[in-house]
Amino acid sequence: MSAAIINLAYLLAVALFILGLKGLSHPRTAVRGNQMGATGMLIAIVATLLDRQIVSYEWIIVGLVVGALIGAVMALRVQMTAMPQMVAILNGFGGAASALVAGASVVESALPEAKLPAPLMQLTIAAAASGLIGAVTFWGSLVAFAKLQGLVGDNPLRVGFLHYVNGALLLVAIGLGVLLTLNPMQLGYYWALLVVASIVGLLLVIPIGGADMPVVIALLNSYSGLAAAATGFALNNNALIITGSLVGASGIILTTIMCRAMNRSLRNVLFGVWVPAEAAPKAEDVYAGKVKAASPEDVALLLEGARYVVIVPGYGMAVSQAQHAVRDLMQLLERQGTLVEFAIHPVAGRMPGHMNVLLAEADVPYDRLKEMDEINPRFEQVDVAIVIGANDVVNPLARTDPNSPIAGMPILDVDKARSVVVIKRSLSPGFAGIPNPLFAADNTLMLFADAREGVQQIIAALKSK
Ligand code: NDP
Repeated sequence: MSAAIINLAYLLAVALFILGLKGLSHPRTAVRGNQMGATGMLIAIVATLLDRQIVSYEWIIVGLVVGALIGAVMALRVQMTAMPQMVAILNGFGGAASALVAGASVVESALPEAKLPAPLMQLTIAAAASGLIGAVTFWGSLVAFAKLQGLVGDNPLRVGFLHYVNGALLLVAIGLGVLLTLNPMQLGYYWALLVVASIVGLLLVIPIGGADMPVVIALLNSYSGLAAAATGFALNNNALIITGSLVGASGIILTTIMCRAMNRSLRNVLFGVWVPAEAAPKAEDVYAGKVKAASPEDVALLLEGARYVVIVPGYGMAVSQAQHAVRDLMQLLERQGTLVEFAIHPVAGRMPGHMNVLLAEADVPYDRLKEMDEINPRFEQVDVAIVIGANDVVNPLARTDPNSPIAGMPILDVDKARSVVVIKRSLSPGFAGIPNPLFAADNTLMLFADAREGVQQIIAALKSK
């Protein structure tokens, strides 16, 4: 097939990727965006298969079937709360695939009479970059997966010297890449580079606490894109170069958004140690004698008289899979003429968009979901704010206590609502490990229950009135 047709197909695929990404930026167009991206990928794969005449299709089919089976089983079995580790492992595979393909092109280039896809120097530099970034991504992602899955301890480690060791190893890996470029027939340099880069990947993520893993995963996602782009240069494949760059750029944008939403710098996430409980006030001091427990009937009474209710979902809603019950509560309140909206914090839950996905699954209309900047000025007009399994994202200490580990993190100003109902099982802290004065505020009632059961009990109490 002529190179012009192949490149035209790649151009079409890339245009579909870009339009798909644009579509993904809004919930209403997200499904179409996803379909566009998938169509672009299909076109890119078919064009690549037709382009490479020497390829053995049997192995590709075996790979596709095995990969599709494993992927389908993983996707069907994964719990919503385990999505971050699933994303981590998929990023890791992306990095490993790039490093292996780049490695294969280096091996191929050393064969006598090899037909090179790119000038030898371009190929070796790109392959070295891909091997380095891909290996870091793979091993870093495996550590992130193991921490989130609870396979290894997830406490942050205070080992400052490790960063120097890592920096030195990184220089060694780059040196090996240079040696490979100067001596492309010496494949040993490439394997040594892979080994050193793998150690860098391990050492980079091991000291970072489980708490920061979602940010690390977004960053590794960006790395996996860069590794793919580098492999694109090794293979002289324009589609791979552009697609990899898109993944690289979107990963770094997501990383930045997450860091901002937590009021942390990327440097602090990667090299700092976040020890939450130290600077926080003691739970007894915050709660003693001030917490008011309520029954579902009390909450129903409060809701009966409310004209404007805002629901604030958090990680606990995901854990108890309360989204369908929450939707039922919304519909019931709307039937009594109450305006119901949802306040969505950018890092509520354990991954960006966590709450949006859950509420969409329960068919909560998107126009009810309000972002933090939009809803915050309205809290003073809210009759009842119902906080469902959220904690850190509504903790006023972020505003009031400059020594708090979450100081400066933008939060939902739930405490400004006329009344607040918090549904959670206990006074246990959230992700940041600190007490929350909201639970002891004068205008707050605590409904101690599993999120789903609590919401269902409120619905039953409302219906029985
Ligand atoms: P939090 O982790 O602060 O709090 C969740 C609360 O849910 C807990 O206090 C827990 O209390 C409660 N809970 C757990 N299980 C249940 C259940 N079955 N029913 C009812 N409640 C339950 O969650 P938030 O969503 O408020 O905040 C997210 C945190 O995660 C932030 O600190 C954020 O920085 C961090 N984070 C988020 C990322 C993201 O991308 N979304 C990425 C990285 C970090 P109890 O045990 O008493 O029930």
